[in-house]
Order: sequence, then structure tokens, then C-alpha cells
Amino acid sequence: MPTDPQSAGVLPLDQALAAAEQYGQKLPAPETEIVSIRESLGRVLAEPILADRDFPPFPRTTRDGFALKSVDIRAVPTTLRVVGEVKAGGYYGKPLKSGEAVEIMTGAPAPSGADAVVMVEYTNRSGEMVEVLRSCAEGENIVPVGSEAKMGREMVAPGVRLSFAQIAVAAAVGHTRIAVFRRPQVAILPTGDELVDAAQTPSAFQIRNSNSYSLAAQVIAAGGEALQLPIAADDPAALRALMEQGLKADLLLLSGGVSMGKFDLVEQVLADLGAKFFFAGALIQPGKPVVFGEANAAAGAGAEAGIKIVRQVASRPTPFFGLPGNPVSTMVTFDLFVTPVLRALSGALPVRLPVAKARLAKTIRTKTGLTRFLPGRLQGPALDPEVEMISWQGSGDLMASAQADCYVIIPPDRDQIEAGEMVSILLRSCPS
Ligand code: AMP
Ligand code: MG
Repeated sequence: MPTDPQSAGVLPLDQALAAAEQYGQKLPAPETEIVSIRESLGRVLAEPILADRDFPPFPRTTRDGFALKSVDIRAVPTTLRVVGEVKAGGYYGKPLKSGEAVEIMTGAPAPSGADAVVMVEYTNRSGEMVEVLRSCAEGENIVPVGSEAKMGREMVAPGVRLSFAQIAVAAAVGHTRIAVFRRPQVAILPTGDELVDAAQTPSAFQIRNSNSYSLAAQVIAAGGEALQLPIAADDPAALRALMEQGLKADLLLLSGGVSMGKFDLVEQVLADLGAKFFFAGALIQPGKPVVFGEANAAAGAGAEAGIKIVRQVASRPTPFFGLPGNPVSTMVTFDLFVTPVLRALSGALPVRLPVAKARLAKTIRTKTGLTRFLPGRLQGPALDPEVEMISWQGSGDLMASAQADCYVIIPPDRDQIEAGEMVSILLRSCPS
């Protein structure tokens, strides 16, 4: 493993992604806690959710209609005698005989002896009799007992991040208190002499720190807890003191100071702290100078900023990312590289990058050599979207980024993509 930024090198995108993912796979599982199902959205499951009974627990009817024996309606039209009615939550106790039908509603248990439900739309009811106009295959409109999940089977695996569909499963099995992994604490350290806090009025040549806020939002959306450290000046001593605090968290995110400029000191100060570097750049735009590594937290440091940081596993080095300071670079590099590491720190299983395809609305020309992630917006028909590029002034263009809902991915070997071509798009981690 390279230990200094020079030998860590600038990696092609796939290798940089693999480095982040592989790092994540080696991390130990975090501590667990119990939360109410109502507070479980976005939490990572620490124990499997098991089926407490068969699913469905009875042969569930999926249509309003008539339960019958499918052999009785091989030739249609035919007439059957209606011997009962059963609604969802109800039950028809007698076994169905040949020539009989039971009027049945969606969600009701099919009576024993019935092997199909014909939809009410294909019948004519007349008093005690029903005329059936269409035949049914055996099993039609009935979901057999246990066919979705047998009792005791794992319905959701540990490491899955809970969204509405998994929360539905938890509720369906009566799992209202859920063991989840503790959220990782992510320290965010903005660097730059030009920065002032968002609540301050900048002088003519200063800018407000926006990255701490966008990063905190991305951290929260990815399931972490965000701890915003004060702005570090471009000065080795100031940087070092704040980095030492940030390394007490489960993950340290720095913004700015990783390019080639004279005052880009982040890598040097990290190296002085004994950091190991896994990569010192990726062949992408925006975000090329992104740095990934790990460093040990110094004993005792941490409380100075008045921020309570409690690391989960104190003995292991802390992963860090030096994200480029240009706001769009910061956002893209978070989605690409920080997300897999943050997921792993949360105990979550790896997931694919959220990449989809869309038709390009207008021809794009760029330079080759880097994989590009250009702000785009989906438009056109809902089921056949086109992606339009948002005009932007480069990776500092906050407003263009705020108008985007995805990034158009331009492969490194393409200098032109024609309108109408299907292109890959990276979906945003936290849609607006
Ligand atoms: P750097 O990566 O430090 O070279 O910064 C690149 C650009 O991003 C410069 O224009 C910085 O002023 C800007 N920048 C750096 N940090 C931040 C931040 N925290 N918020 C907004 N812009 C920033
Ligand atoms: Mg800077």
C-alpha cells in the first residue's frame, strides 16, 4: 500500500472506485442500537428480518370474483351455484364441491377445494346462480400459502438500508423495534484562506463556505452523522490541529487544498501526520485532485473545537478524503468515492453506482482523457427520458449544479457524442 501521495498516484475511475469499495469491505461491523420502526427510515439493518409465519398465511385471492374449481369452467359459458360469500378477513368453512362457487373479495382466503378465482367482470350473477363467461387456469388469481416466504425465512438481510419496502416487511412480521447499526460520525473540515462562514458577510475577495453545508447534507442523506469543524486557514499548523480533531471521527472529509497550488497543503500535512494514501487523484472531471487515505488519530486530540467526537473503533486508522474545493467537484467526488466508504462504515452492503441510460438531447463536444460527469437534467416523456446538459462555467458553478438532477457521464475516449445517442447518467444520491 503506498504511503505517500506521489507514489499513490492518479488512478483511472474504475480503479479509484474499486479502491474505495475494497477499503469498505475490510471494515469491521459497527455497534448496534435498537430503534422504533417509525424512526428506521435510512437506517441499516443489523439483524435479519425473519418471516414470523408463512407469506401469504392463507391462499390469498387477488381479484374480486368467484372462487371455483377450474375443471368446472373448462367449457364456457357455464352456470354454477353460489353457495357463500367471503370478504377479506372472513372465511368460508366448507370445502367447495363441484358445480359450486363462492363470491370472494380481494384479500380473502380462497375456500378449500377452490383452485381458481374468476374475475367478477367475466361473470353474470342472477340470484343464487352465476354464469361464468371465461375459463381460468388452475391457480389463477390465488397466491398459494407460503409461496412468497415460508415461516422462518430471512425476508430482509442484515446490511440492507431500510427504505419503505423493507419497512413494510418489518411491519408485516410485527418487527416494530429494529436492531440497526450506529450511524458513523463524519467530520467535515473546510480549508481555504478565502472562506468565511455562511452566516458572515464576505469581504470583496472572500467567499462563503458552502461545501461544509452541501457535504453535511450528503453525509446525512447517505446515513451518517455530520460534524462540521471550523474553517481551516491555508496554514500547516492550523490545518494539522483541525485534522487531528477530525481524525477522531469515523471518517474525515476535507474540502479544498488538494490541487497543485502553492497553498494546497492538505496532502503534505496529512503525510506529516503519518497518513497512508490509496490514491492521490482520479482521471475524472470534475474532481481530478481527489485524495483518499487513512491516518491514525493522535491520542488526546479532539475536544478543542468543542465538538464531541466518539469514535466507534478507536484502534483502527481513520479513513479520510481530501475532496477538491470547487463545489461541484466536492459533490461529484462524494457521490463517487465517499458513498461506498460511508456505507461500509454504516454496516451497509455495497450497492452499484446509480447509473441509468437516457437519450442525449443535444450534441456534446469535450476533450478526451478523463471520464466526465457533467451536470444534466432529465426531460421529455416520463418513460423515455432525454437528458439535457446544463450550461455551466465549470466545477465552481453552484447554480448550474442546483439546476441539475443527474450527471451525464462522458467516457474518456469520446470527444463528441451526437444528439439522440443513449448515454449513461449518474443519478444524484439525494434527489431534490
Ligand atoms: P481549492 O480546491 O482549495 O483549490 O479550491 C478550489 C475552488 O473552490 C476555489 O475557487 C475555492 O475558493 C473554492 N472553494 C474551496 N473551498 C470551498 C468551500 N468550502 N466552499 C465553497 N467554495 C470553496
Ligand atoms: Mg484552497
